[in-house]
Amino acid sequence: MMNLFNCLLSEKCPYCRKTLETSKSNIRKGIVIKACPDQHFQKEFHPALETYIENRKTS
Ligand SMILES: [Zn+2]
Repeated sequence: MMNLFNCLLSEKCPYCRKTLETSKSNIRKGIVIKACPDQHFQKEFHPALETYIENRKTS
């Protein structure tokens, strides 16, 4: 799990290349959310399930 987490830390927005922020993460629920500061892109990770959901802005 730590390897996965370290990978997440280096994620960048595919649109503006800014480093994704973790400010919306919900550690209590075991969810790590990585989001572009400009809201282009978001990834919602569920480490317990070893999966994630990507959300890309289409506009
Ligand atoms: Zn962006």
